[in-house]
Amino acid sequence: MGSTAPVNIAIIGGGIAGLALAAALIKKPHLDIHVYESVPAHSDVGAGLALHRNALKAMALLGPEVHQAYLDKAINIGSGDNEEAEAEMATEIFFAHGPHANTAADQQPVAELGRAKGRKSVSRADLLAGLLSLVPKDRVSFGKKLTRIWEEDDNVSGKKVMFEFADGSTGEADCVLGADGIHSVVRGYLLGEDHPARHPVHHDKWQVYRTVVTTEQAIEAGVEERFTRTVPILLGPKGHVNCIPLNKGTRLSAGVAVRGAAVDEASVDGPAKDDNSGKGRSLDVGLYKDYTPEARAIVGLVAKDTSASWAVGDHDHAPVYYKGRVAMLGDAAHASLPFAGNGAAQALEDAAVLDHLFGRVKQPSQIEAALGAYDAVRRPRSQAVVDLARKFGRVYAFAEGDIHEDPEKVRDFFTLAGQFTNEADLLKQNEDAMSKMEKSFRGRSKNG
Ligand code: FAD
Repeated sequence: MGSTAPVNIAIIGGGIAGLALAAALIKKPHLDIHVYESVPAHSDVGAGLALHRNALKAMALLGPEVHQAYLDKAINIGSGDNEEAEAEMATEIFFAHGPHANTAADQQPVAELGRAKGRKSVSRADLLAGLLSLVPKDRVSFGKKLTRIWEEDDNVSGKKVMFEFADGSTGEADCVLGADGIHSVVRGYLLGEDHPARHPVHHDKWQVYRTVVTTEQAIEAGVEERFTRTVPILLGPKGHVNCIPLNKGTRLSAGVAVRGAAVDEASVDGPAKDDNSGKGRSLDVGLYKDYTPEARAIVGLVAKDTSASWAVGDHDHAPVYYKGRVAMLGDAAHASLPFAGNGAAQALEDAAVLDHLFGRVKQPSQIEAALGAYDAVRRPRSQAVVDLARKFGRVYAFAEGDIHEDPEKVRDFFTLAGQFTNEADLLKQNEDAMSKMEKSFRGRSKNG
């Protein structure tokens, strides 16, 4: 006889992965969900996300209200309002250096990414606020920083996952899903603290700089007007320069990524200190003196405010995304460099698969089969995206063989990469995961 009590799930981390998953799972009466988030409240960190088609498909699978929460906060790229929702837009790639440089207003991009109708961008803080509004307040606890996790056998209900927070309080659940970001504590539990893939790495030593200014300030500083309405990425050998319009087109997130500039060896070989290592490091505009004037105007803008600067890392491949009744998702499982613009999209794909599987998990004894199916389907694809994002960085910085010498090769690279990330059949991904879980159920019933 199975238990009729709801299966309780603790989600650690209330970022994009944790809140999107919670917003979907909360609708299932056979589940009891609680989100534990370390910060006391989300703050506006200003990062702009340009979500690609697979992110939107994943949100639609998570539920119309999840998709709507995003639509309510996003702006149309290119129009600045919501009236041209059907206009086709893409991230546009330009050369900003060398013989193929073409960033002037009348030029065509060398390649494009993520072409879609109604392409939008959203600030991370806005998206989090929208997702949070879908989860009842008493189901989210802020100021709860996970420090420890362990599993125990409970004589009454079987296995339980126990956890402890920095404030000394403890909790327990049938299942823990770790969406606690790149420095995940849950990852440490799953892989072991000494595992070589436990901590983020900085293979190409990328240092990124980001600032947010009003669109007026950007134009006054000489930024091409059309770059305040599109998502341009301007390439060159020191690294790339990009812009994302924010807040209904009134503000602009401008960024510069410098390859080889993150010199913090400690965070390469050992635990990265935090995402702000290198914070406030000045940006050497001289590195960009051979870039086009349009690119240099963006670099100049970013150099004025380097308070938001950090070494970006990613994860080497984890051999597994779950153990027992504990799993990880989002950046906790597969943090990637931001250059393929698909980290949040992969986090949302994870959430869509877990949501689909947990629709069928009516008893705690079924959790491991669900997590095994999730691991089998999501690990290969999300890790391929981590590898791809590294390659994006190197192509952007003219460091991937001689690809940059031939615009045709650059175009082909982005076309194929875009097909892999954005055009994936997510319904099929959900179905594949479900059939793996059902197979595992059948195997277990055959074995008694
Ligand atoms: P996070 O958003 O990092 O959330 C983790 C949460 O867990 C946080 O709220 C954190 O406070 C909490 N937490 C951490 N530790 C603990 C703990 N011990 N206990 C409890 N809670 C904890 N992706 C795209 O798809 N498109 C883009 O255009 C894009 N642009 C990007 C630009 C930049 C500059 C960067 C850095 C990333 C970009 N990404 C983009 C990637 C995207 O932001 C991440 O992949 C995404 O935010 C991952 O979501 P997450 O929920 O897994 O992790």
